[in-house]
Amino acid sequence: MTASKPTHAPILFPVVDQSLVIGGIPLPRLAARVGQTPFYAYDRRLLTARVQALRAALPAEIELHYAMKANPMPAVVQHMAGLVDGLDVASGRELRVALDTGMLPANISFAGPGKGEQELTQAIAAGIVINLESETELERVATLGHTLGLRPKVAVRVNPDFELKSSGMKMGGGPKQFGIDAERVPAVLTRIGALGLDFEGFHIFSGSQNLKPESIVEAHDLTFELGLRLAAQAPSPVKALNIGGGFGIPYFPGENRLDLGPIADNLAQKLPDVKARLGGAAIIIELGRYLVGEAGIYVCRITDKKVSRGHTYLVTDGGLHHHLSASGNFGQVIRKNYPVAIGNRMGQDDAAPASVVGPLCTPLDLLGDKMTLPEAEIGDLVVVFQSGAYGYTASPTRFLSHAEPIEVLV
Ligand SMILES: *Cc1c(COP(=O)(O)O)cnc(C)c1O
Repeated sequence: MTASKPTHAPILFPVVDQSLVIGGIPLPRLAARVGQTPFYAYDRRLLTARVQALRAALPAEIELHYAMKANPMPAVVQHMAGLVDGLDVASGRELRVALDTGMLPANISFAGPGKGEQELTQAIAAGIVINLESETELERVATLGHTLGLRPKVAVRVNPDFELKSSGMKMGGGPKQFGIDAERVPAVLTRIGALGLDFEGFHIFSGSQNLKPESIVEAHDLTFELGLRLAAQAPSPVKALNIGGGFGIPYFPGENRLDLGPIADNLAQKLPDVKARLGGAAIIIELGRYLVGEAGIYVCRITDKKVSRGHTYLVTDGGLHHHLSASGNFGQVIRKNYPVAIGNRMGQDDAAPASVVGPLCTPLDLLGDKMTLPEAEIGDLVVVFQSGAYGYTASPTRFLSHAEPIEVLV
């Protein structure tokens, strides 16, 4: 048997006449319509299809929230608001975008350490749910609520006493800057009762970018156990238990799409009992990248093609400053290539390996390292897939003072 080289998971965008098609529009025409490269394009149909497929797979009682920081473009958030049950924001600015969608404030939650007084004031005035990240924050919220003459809605973000295995970014278990340690939560619940705040429930988020269903199942079980244990000490009935998310998408060769089957089966099995024991509380899953990541591409144009000692470099007008994650510098330990294609030469035969680089004066400005791509020419359009989440707003756009990319939703 010969070992086959790992490949990227198949892309979700259709191809017509060797051109990638986004939102029904062939890429060269879309580029002309946008008026410049580089740009990010997000496909409404793929966004909708992803939410529909997820809802069809999961038990109907699960509520779905969109974690806006994955892609806070207002048009995207507006589109998502029509598909999901709630929005999770991470800043006062994201909160304003969320409120603009018309989403009911009670279905918007605000997580993140170190929320500013201005942001907390906005949140209380808007009547959204504040996920408390510390005991200091609890006191601050109570004081601000008193000043405003309003009763803040609060949930406790719990730093669990377990961690999600195999997740790309660990956000729970052990000492963390996120949430309140599970063992401190009973005292915090007593204090919430004493302060007369409107207690919403718990937010237990234990990780991100997980492609292993068995570890998500395990996290769900541990989360239910912890949520039920803490609910017994709550000052009033739990209205919602947010069990986090962490569903990953395949970025690198050899990675496959998450198998929702075991996750859905486990939820279907456990949910009736958990809901009954919580007096019918809402069970929420919050997802960012899983909902939007695969529906977006980053497009840049080849501006130069050079051969250096036998190796081909495709130089583009886009790079690390627009798409830090694809360059491998957003938390990755080992740099691997995102899926990349020449969007106007889809299906053409592969040429010798080439590297796709940007215009920055650093060797880190690499969008694709020694990739097999068709023979590309100056003027061709390079597409980086899996770019709908943590792309534009997760990038250092001011670095080297180039123009910013444009974002479109089609
Ligand atoms: C970032 C974040 C998410 C979204 O993570 P994804 O990996 O994009 O799904 C969800 N909840 C919280 C609390 C977060 O901080």
